[in-house]
Amino acid sequence: MKKDIVLALDLEYTLISSATLCFSRPGLHEFLLFCQNTFERLVIFTTVSEATFQRVAQQLMALNEVPPWFGDLEYITWDRRGKKDLRLIPDANVKRCYLLDDRREYVCDSQINNWITIEPYEFVGEGVDNDRELQKVIHQLNALQ
Ligand SMILES: [Mg+2]
Repeated sequence: MKKDIVLALDLEYTLISSATLCFSRPGLHEFLLFCQNTFERLVIFTTVSEATFQRVAQQLMALNEVPPWFGDLEYITWDRRGKKDLRLIPDANVKRCYLLDDRREYVCDSQINNWITIEPYEFVGEGVDNDRELQKVIHQLNALQ
């Protein structure tokens, strides 16, 4: 049984580095499969445009770094400057929505309990990548009631 939860995913520094460099975070593919199997609905809530998200998605899908449905994820339309207000997710109960994001400033104060924090991912493409944040987040998401 999936949890009746909508999980909103930030893109830059959460799932990948910047959209420009587009390094996928270690464990990204497995993380997305976990999310798909665990939650009713996944959406993308990002400061990059929908066209940029699509470019990133196509690039990651071509490299098999994300599941083939990644580019079909629902993109949340917003002003891309203010808060990532979970009420902007169509037909969702805000109490059952969670935002996974590395930046506090995008979180509405009234929705602070719906924020899953993650350390920003800034891999520059050199050396050993020991980032294990997505694995940590899986434990937190599993604990959601
Ligand atoms: Mg971010």
